[in-house]
Amino acid sequence: MAILPGEVVLLKKLGVEVFVEFHAGERAFASDKTYQASGAHTSERKDVMLNSEMLLSVNPPLDDDIASFREGQILCSVINPSENNIWLEKARLHGLTVLALDLIPRITRAQSMDILSSMATISGYKAVLEAASLLPRFFPMFMSAAGTIKPARVLILGAGVAGLQAVAIARKLGAVVEVFDVRSAVKEEVKSLGGKFIEVEGAKEDALAGGYAVEQSEEFKNKQQDLIQKRSEAADVVICTAQIPGRKAPVLLLKETVNGMKPGSVIIDLASSTGGNCELTKDNERIVVNGVTIIGKSDYPSDMPSDASKMFGNNIINLLKIMIDKDGNLVLNLMDDIINGTTAVHKKEYISQRVKQMLNIK
Ligand code: NAD
Repeated sequence: MAILPGEVVLLKKLGVEVFVEFHAGERAFASDKTYQASGAHTSERKDVMLNSEMLLSVNPPLDDDIASFREGQILCSVINPSENNIWLEKARLHGLTVLALDLIPRITRAQSMDILSSMATISGYKAVLEAASLLPRFFPMFMSAAGTIKPARVLILGAGVAGLQAVAIARKLGAVVEVFDVRSAVKEEVKSLGGKFIEVEGAKEDALAGGYAVEQSEEFKNKQQDLIQKRSEAADVVICTAQIPGRKAPVLLLKETVNGMKPGSVIIDLASSTGGNCELTKDNERIVVNGVTIIGKSDYPSDMPSDASKMFGNNIINLLKIMIDKDGNLVLNLMDDIINGTTAVHKKEYISQRVKQMLNIK
């Protein structure tokens, strides 16, 4: 759910009237009554669409809905322009303004609006909990009357927002944690969370990539795969989070690597929606290969709807704070780098430079 009742109150303080579709909050345990009590109007979907200047949703509305929108209406949602390019083109031709929340620039001023970070935080947390519950062993070291149990070993591929969260949770549960990443900047962060950063020499980094990873050379990939293979054989759990924006996820765990892992080990592949870091991953499936459980799942936030909605709503409110003037009017200032970077289409034109790059638009 894009906005919970608690956040409706904050929106109203900005001078905004809020309309919520009947039963929209049910999955996040927010009833129509609680929305009404917080000052929102609850109504049928068509009335919400008709009455609003701006529509907030987690995922883009259906293709069929586009025709029902008024020209000039603003849609604000996670868009994923590379995959939803046809949808976006229809919205552009219909004259809608589309704000793609997944395009919010990764700059300090926009940190409080960063929906991808919020969702990655949940994914990293849930991935470790799921691995711990599936593993036929303890995570922490135990010294008991029945003998000493060694701590589990967790290998984390990719130390972005999800990976670092996974390091923190796995350490809290008492596991020994090792981490691979191609960006040397994360080395200190991994260490400060109690993980061990495994460095592979020769990683390519690009200061112009906005803090993101870039495609690596074949020589580097081979060196990295050898090391990952060795560390995976010693691991009980592998959490895969490595991604390169706008591209297929790098394949870091080959079939042979999985075959060399201990039976009972668990791989959670958070990169599954973009192809997966493990060669054997099947998106949205749980499979077992030679006793190793592999879960391909990129959508853990939907398993934690209350806090996912709370974080999502807070991110949106922080974005709206720079879009709503003191009289409660919506102002789309395309000179602002956050608004410009987030606006996919406006007045039948593509605006965001990143969308143009993704869709190859000159
Ligand atoms: P992401 O989801 O794009 O990728 C996850 C991690 O995988 C990254 O750390 C990346 O370096 C790593 N990776 C990619 N290819 C790899 C490979 N071949 N081997 C090993 N690791 C590989 O990353 P993210 O979580 O979205 O974060 C990307 C960057 O953006 C980080 O520097 C983060 O601190 C920064 N960030 C900034 C803001 C902000 O300032 N508003 C918000 C969120 C994230």
